[in-house]
Formats: sequence, structure tokens, C-alpha cells
Amino acid sequence: MDKLYRKIITGVLMCGGTLLTIIAAAHFSTSGNNEVRPVALTGFNDSTPTIVLDAGHGGIDGGCTSADGIPEKGINLSILLRLRDLLRISGYEVVVTRDSDRSIHDDGVEGIAAQKSSDMDNRLALFNSEQNAVCISIHQNQFTDPIYSGAQMFYSASNKRNEALAQSLQSSFAELLQPDNTREIKQCGKELFLCYYSENPTVMAECGFLSNPEEAALLNTEEYQQKVAMVLFKGLSDFLEES
Ligand SMILES: [Zn+2]
Repeated sequence: MDKLYRKIITGVLMCGGTLLTIIAAAHFSTSGNNEVRPVALTGFNDSTPTIVLDAGHGGIDGGCTSADGIPEKGINLSILLRLRDLLRISGYEVVVTRDSDRSIHDDGVEGIAAQKSSDMDNRLALFNSEQNAVCISIHQNQFTDPIYSGAQMFYSASNKRNEALAQSLQSSFAELLQPDNTREIKQCGKELFLCYYSENPTVMAECGFLSNPEEAALLNTEEYQQKVAMVLFKGLSDFLEES
């Protein structure tokens, strides 16, 4: 018979003077050959959603760019991979739209516009591939005036749980990483293709402004990318606990 062990995985994050401690309790089982494998988390059951993560852009589409030429696509991917690992170690099933620097358009599609359209269709198909999923699309923001900074969550009214998800992620940024961030979540329409047409709770997380030199420099560091991933993890966890 399998023996159950409880492991406490504790991640400690220093965020602008705020100490965040995330404790995830996981059950592990051992088979006869002492192989350890995760079987379930406390509170996890058939209704636990799959988490779908999207790293915006990729391949020839770099997204927006900082003043010194760093495109958002790589920052988006790094945050995604870190968030994916946090979620997986906590027991979630995670689907990602990409785990490398590429577009996910269908083979054989020619032309940039057609490839972009195919890429977005395939991302949406992944968002809607599970009946019970929660989706986060990770992006960085840009504005003509470099003074603006701070994360902001965008959502569509197409799913009634989107607003709560957006608010939970926004609150997590303000609480843990950006105490001066007073931005409010913003509702958008069809222009946010993935948010609008997703059949699952979905938010586009603009994690910061690449047009702000200080924030762009932070976003380009692994340390800050890890903090952003943990903030998203905490906001998502709060949302799932409350819903
Ligand atoms: Zn973007």
C-alpha cells in the first residue's frame, strides 16, 4: 500500500519590503521502489481547473519594445515558464501556448498576416481545449509617455468570472510588488481577441511598461521576473480559493 507523505513547499519572496510566504501543501506517494510521485494536493479534486498560460507574441512578433530594444516576447516567456513551474509543483495541470521563442501558426501558412491569424486561432483553441480551465495571457505594456509604470489587468465581460480573476491578480500586484500601483482593472471588447472569445475565465496581465526605463530594466532581470510569477501565482491561488 502506498504511504502518504505531506510535503510543505514554502516559497519566500521579498517584495518591496513585504515578505510573502506561500505555503502549498502537497501529498506524495511512494511506490515499492521508493519512487516519489505527486498524487494530489489538499483541496484538489475533479473540479480543480487546468491552468492555461499564454506568453504573448513570439517568433518574428516581438510585441512592444523597450527604449534599448528589448522585446516583450522574451520577458513574457520567462515569466510564463516560472509561473508554470510554481503551478506544477503545487499540483496543477498546466497547458502553455508556447515554451520557446516561436509563433504557433499552422505549418504551411504563408505570409505574416496569415501566420499571425493562425497563431491567434491556435492560442484560442488551447484556451478552449478544456471545459474547466483558467487562462492568463502574459504581456508587457507600452505608452508614448515613459512616465507610466505598473501592472494592469484587462478582461472581457464575456465570462462573468473574468472580473474577479482580474481583480485578484491586480490586488496581488499592489499588495506584494507595487505598493504605489493604484491602477484599476480594465474591461475591453473584441480587440482583446483571446479574452473576448475564451470560454473560460481569462485575463490579459500587462505586467509592466517597457516604455518606462526603470520598469523595463527590472522586467529584464530574472529576479524580478520570478517575483512577477509569484505575484501571479498568489493572485490566481486567491481567486481559485474564493471561487
Ligand atoms: Zn503584448
